[in-house]
Amino acid sequence: MKGLMMDYPLTVTSLMRHVAAQHGASEVYSLTVENPAHRTTYAEIFRRCARLANALRRLGMKEGDRVATMAWNDYRHMELYYGISCMGGVLHTINPRLFPEQLQYIVNHAEDRFLFSDPLLLPLLEKLHADFPTVEAHVLLSSKQAMPESSVPNLISYEELIEGESDSFDWPALDENTASSMCYTSGTTGNPKGVLYSHRSTILHTYASGLSDAININSTDSVLPVVPMFHANSWGVVYCAPMVGARLVLPGPKAGDPEALVAMMNSERVTTALGVPTVWLGLLNYLEATGQHLETVRDLVVGGAACPRSMMVDFEERHGIHVIHAWGMTEMSPLGSVNAPTASTGGMDAEAKLHQQLSQGRAPYGVEMRLVDDDGGELPRDGKAVGRLQVRGSWVAHGYYRAEESALEDGWFDTGDVASIDPEGFMRITDRTKDLIKSGGEWISSIELEDVAMAHPAVAEAAVIAMPHAKWSERPLLIVCLKEDAAVDADTLLAWFEGKVAKWWIPDAVEFTDELPHTATGKVSKLKLREQFAAAG
Ligand code: AMP
Repeated sequence: MKGLMMDYPLTVTSLMRHVAAQHGASEVYSLTVENPAHRTTYAEIFRRCARLANALRRLGMKEGDRVATMAWNDYRHMELYYGISCMGGVLHTINPRLFPEQLQYIVNHAEDRFLFSDPLLLPLLEKLHADFPTVEAHVLLSSKQAMPESSVPNLISYEELIEGESDSFDWPALDENTASSMCYTSGTTGNPKGVLYSHRSTILHTYASGLSDAININSTDSVLPVVPMFHANSWGVVYCAPMVGARLVLPGPKAGDPEALVAMMNSERVTTALGVPTVWLGLLNYLEATGQHLETVRDLVVGGAACPRSMMVDFEERHGIHVIHAWGMTEMSPLGSVNAPTASTGGMDAEAKLHQQLSQGRAPYGVEMRLVDDDGGELPRDGKAVGRLQVRGSWVAHGYYRAEESALEDGWFDTGDVASIDPEGFMRITDRTKDLIKSGGEWISSIELEDVAMAHPAVAEAAVIAMPHAKWSERPLLIVCLKEDAAVDADTLLAWFEGKVAKWWIPDAVEFTDELPHTATGKVSKLKLREQFAAAG
């Protein structure tokens, strides 16, 4: 027997309607190149979304078309979020820090028809636009007056594009499984892979993010996503803050500038801010050096890489700010787990509490986790057994855009992380099976670095592992075994990488060894290398 409740599709459009009706007057502050303190409201943003949708329809945009953005966190980017998805298009947020070849691959693979870029990224666009043949129109997120001279043909300003368009748009009634946005994630080898979110997955993720045991925000909060809007929808906050009516404070191009962030956090009375450890470390150092305080921040959400113990202690004890440690992946929209205490946490001593708080936290309803050994056998949730972390749930990808095969093993998505889970559900990441290094929130492929090293005539075998790093979370360490009678020093070997990979990918150091440890299947054992070289960092 079927229930007799309405079939009310979970769409970003219904979220937009809700926000306009309930929280239309809530403010959105943005810092942009043109304006250090732009203020608007959700209601105004949605009116401009309608103008944008009318303009895109005029340009011939159809449902399902991909529309790309290369932009920082500001109100215009937010208009693109809602305007594109709600008209049935796919918002494709691009990380401008990727290599030119990756950007070229991504735009062509997604077959983006339109590209909206921040003015600060114009030099990049000028170099690359000819490699984007599917892009029919380039739009610069700028006013007409501030439009720079450019070699990009027919570059149009955003304000000019939407000028004169109607404030109303007949938003289509979308099926909730319609694709709403996409984000490419780097793989260990080969090309980036497209994760395609749906309206339904986005809305369910938004509900879960707002829970008090998740990022815990409500209509009295001012929320600052330092995490970029091109990193898994800035962890969903661009949907969740409006849903609950919280104010949004958007740092534009200043996300990596501690001085600007502290000034903004204090003047805009920010209560919750979200970002990767590298950002918070810069901010802690700045607070220390200047003697300033964060006057209103209650919660800092730290994710994307493990929160270092010293960072948690500093924020909690010296600044009185609660740290919420979260874990997730682009493939998980991205929320996978969040650290919030349980009833039994209260009875723990300070050290046990801190140890628990440093774990990656518990899965909200909507995400299931399991640990498996190398043969696929399920491991106990006893806080001791360590295995491959697999997930499934309403906002977890089951495949990648235009990839034939499923991304699942036996119905589960393998995260490439290695973890334990305790009886209360607290998950703790201990290692990674994927050959990637996460430096300052961005990925470096160990395999690509190994390929470059192995191409050196003196190198017999090479391996690259992640070493913990105070500022960047992780940095690559190159370990090489030289050919018999060959000689090369560390500086020469590191110089070999120049021009072959991005500068920030080049390993920090080289260790020479007579032999690399191998697994039973003949692969270099990264686990053994990490143990062996633990002291090198
Ligand atoms: P991305 O898809 O770029 O968001 O990267 C997801 C990956 O980042 C995860 O699979 C982990 O390897 C890593 N990661 C994210 N959050 C954390 C965390 N809190 N602690 C440790 N690793 C993390």
